[in-house]
Amino acid sequence: MSLVIVGSVAFDTIRTPWGSRERIVGGSATYCSLAASYFTRPRIVGVVGRDFPRKTLALLKSRGVDLEGLKIKAGKTFHWEGKYEEDTNRRMTVRTELNVFADFRPEVPARYRNSRIVYLANLNPEHHDFVLGQFHKPGLVAMDTIRLWIDTKRETLLRELGRVDIFFANDEEARLITGEINLISAGKALVGLGPSLVLLKKGEHGALVFGRDFVFGVLAHPCEHVIDPTGAGDSFAGGFLGYLDGSPGPAPGEVRRAAVYGSVLASFAIEDFGIGRFLTLDRELVEARFRQFRKLTAF
Ligand code: AMP
Repeated sequence: MSLVIVGSVAFDTIRTPWGSRERIVGGSATYCSLAASYFTRPRIVGVVGRDFPRKTLALLKSRGVDLEGLKIKAGKTFHWEGKYEEDTNRRMTVRTELNVFADFRPEVPARYRNSRIVYLANLNPEHHDFVLGQFHKPGLVAMDTIRLWIDTKRETLLRELGRVDIFFANDEEARLITGEINLISAGKALVGLGPSLVLLKKGEHGALVFGRDFVFGVLAHPCEHVIDPTGAGDSFAGGFLGYLDGSPGPAPGEVRRAAVYGSVLASFAIEDFGIGRFLTLDRELVEARFRQFRKLTAF
């Protein structure tokens, strides 16, 4: 069992119509590893500055996250600021301060190189080669992206899609990449670009899983009070990949269960600002919500 997550460990400033938080802990690798930690012992490759709180590093360790690949460098931690409108499915990036992330050359510790699953979270697609070249034939390579790379590194991104097994995208990203407005067409078109599995996330409306010969739909947990949608996508990926890491392989039944776990972990992430909800979340609560999903969709 081994899942390596290459991505950001960050400070986030979040503004929602209901409240704001300044410089709280976030980052794609942070959310993803916490979500995955309910199923496996995820390994992070990333970088933070000396200003990053030791207590968060201790929290990650206490959840079984392996931090050997997380570099602590002189300088400031990556800082992202985002703003949500009443429709929490839409968000705006207000500011991105790369800081120590600017010249991040993700170095994979020798101990991680035989890992089974590699997740490239929001990484500049130009760095994929450098990262993947350090692994010995991972069983599954997964990636996520953000609008920034679709707008600025389109050709590289399309090339990288041809090399990965699993691709996570939200509805906006899927439409921008494929030019298809209809999400079913967009999902199928993404599978046509290379990945054998595409996880198309639709915010409060759940997600669709596209395989070469199947489509599967999973709801989002009906949550009336979304506090902070940040990290939902990465928590979805963490739940999905963490579960798969503990399963024998990506057979269709396992992929379906993994997608439900993805949705379960995302639903917890949005119940508090930042990573707050993970402080008290345990496996029992995760399983209880998994069972609620069963009830919700049984007919
Ligand atoms: P999500 O809401 O799951 O799509 O991811 C939110 C996380 O992505 C936040 O905690 C941010 O710190 C992180 N993030 C935002 N922009 C970037 C970027 N350009 N590179 C890496 N991580 C980012």
